[in-house]
Amino acid sequence: MGAILIPKEIREKAKSCFECGICTASCPMMELLSTHYNPRSLLQKTLTEPEKTLGDDSLWLCAWCYKCHKRCPQGLKPPEIFQILKSEAAKRGSLDGFERAISIMEKDIPLPIVCWYTCFHPERAGIDDKTLVEALQKLTAESMKVSKREICHQQKVAVIGSGPAGLTAACELAEMGYPVTVFEALPAPGGMLRKSMPSFRLPKEALENEIKRLEQMGIQIETNTAIGKDAGFNELLQDDFKAVFVAVGAHKSRKLEIKGEELEGVLDALSFLWSVNMEQNVDLGKKVGVIGGGNVAVDASRTALRHGADEVLILYRRSREEMPANPWEVKEAEKEGVKIELLVAPKKILEKAGRVGGLELVKMKLGEQDETGRRTPVPVEDSEFSLELDTIIVAIGETAETTFLPKDVEVDKAGRIIVNPFTMETSLPGVFAGGDTVTGPATIMEAILAGKKAAYSINRYLATTRKGGANHGN
Ligand SMILES: Cc1cc2nc3c(=O)[nH]c(=O)nc-3n(C[C@H](O)[C@H](O)[C@H](O)COP(=O)(O)OP(=O)(O)OC[C@H]3O[C@@H](n4cnc5c(N)ncnc54)[C@H](O)[C@@H]3O)c2cc1C
Ligand code: SF4
Ligand code: SF4
Repeated sequence: MGAILIPKEIREKAKSCFECGICTASCPMMELLSTHYNPRSLLQKTLTEPEKTLGDDSLWLCAWCYKCHKRCPQGLKPPEIFQILKSEAAKRGSLDGFERAISIMEKDIPLPIVCWYTCFHPERAGIDDKTLVEALQKLTAESMKVSKREICHQQKVAVIGSGPAGLTAACELAEMGYPVTVFEALPAPGGMLRKSMPSFRLPKEALENEIKRLEQMGIQIETNTAIGKDAGFNELLQDDFKAVFVAVGAHKSRKLEIKGEELEGVLDALSFLWSVNMEQNVDLGKKVGVIGGGNVAVDASRTALRHGADEVLILYRRSREEMPANPWEVKEAEKEGVKIELLVAPKKILEKAGRVGGLELVKMKLGEQDETGRRTPVPVEDSEFSLELDTIIVAIGETAETTFLPKDVEVDKAGRIIVNPFTMETSLPGVFAGGDTVTGPATIMEAILAGKKAAYSINRYLATTRKGGANHGN
């Protein structure tokens, strides 16, 4: 067996790890699978015993969320170091660890089929297609072996929102024997996975399989039911639900607040992706500008290319290093032909024949670090220039829409629900919240983790009320 070739610059960089453990503390997989996964230990093993690490199941359980990298004082990118080992394992056909990881995914990870596509990406290690297809079939078949869960408790639980946080909480609570109803505003369940995740990244049937599995467990999902519109929040409490989990995500798109934003041809990224997922025809014209540097901007740009645009340009106001999008997604977008223009900010949308005709931009330079640790972009004087564009897609962030909640549920200035981070309980007893609606736009794994934590807390809360303790007063 030949020596494993970890590129020298990566090995040298990895050696600079001083084992502070910040990566482990920031890692959602560590919290979800603490007995199986620890990125700091895995990184050390990668350096000291790479041959042994090749057979390690945890190598396949990194969710590629880059939370560790974003906080690592040495700027290390553990997922990319693990990726080298995964590719080596695949090249040598040394896939015992991978097979064990499939069993862990199936037993310990809620929504395992969705996570296979959106988080684990085993195909990126270069495993041959036959092995991959067999592994996915096994994962799907095993995880679909579910039966209707017996109701052991009479206390009904309502979940608002059917994204990964809501579905996970519903699944865990059904396992514990609670009758659970999920209320979803959209015509179909799945949250962002349904609404905005492009189908080239998550096939529709993968999501359908997960939903089918939850319904087989006995979870009721009421679609086309927006709480606050089709039913009031207080009605839920009056309707005998003894606990409520609010998992409504962050679906309100931020606006540019510049001239011309109301013109035809200016789209917000979530609505554009939703229209494409609904198989509606969106006429983008030839040249599309996507404003923003996060994963949503990248997904919107790749979708625009697939949806008929000849040229797609991501316009981002900071440097590449500061782009919040995952580096591997940015690379894939560029490989497909998306162009990226850095250090530019939009100033004014230009009109042509009553709709978008272009965009005036200003060049930026990086100034002092802001509170997120990134350097603030500052406009360069007299550097304005314009681009001709047929469509502008705005992807500069999303916020939570929580105005339907009673005043007793505290929210912060950005509309995010404030919770106790250990119990996910809000300021209103019996009401819990989690996922993007608490954190702002984050990741599937964090939403899953929040759903799991909330389910355990709801169980504890309801056990107390069974003994005659606290109640939300209905
Ligand atoms: C384009 C795109 C791509 C992404 N790609 C990835 C990725 O590759 N990997 C990753 O980890 N993360 C990714 N994310 C982020 C991820 O999708 C979210 O972090 C995650 O879905 C949040 O889950 P959630 O359950 O908190 O909320 P959501 O998934 O947003 O679900 C909330 C649900 O609540 C419903 N709802 C809202 N208000 C109400 C109401 N009043 N009554 C009833 N229902 C309501 C909404 O319709 C929605 O279905 C992506 C996000 C987007 C937009
Ligand atoms: S955060 Fe960085 S330096 Fe600290 S243990 Fe993790 S990889 Fe090493
Ligand atoms: S990329 Fe995410 S899952 Fe992987 S080690 Fe880092 S924090 Fe953990």
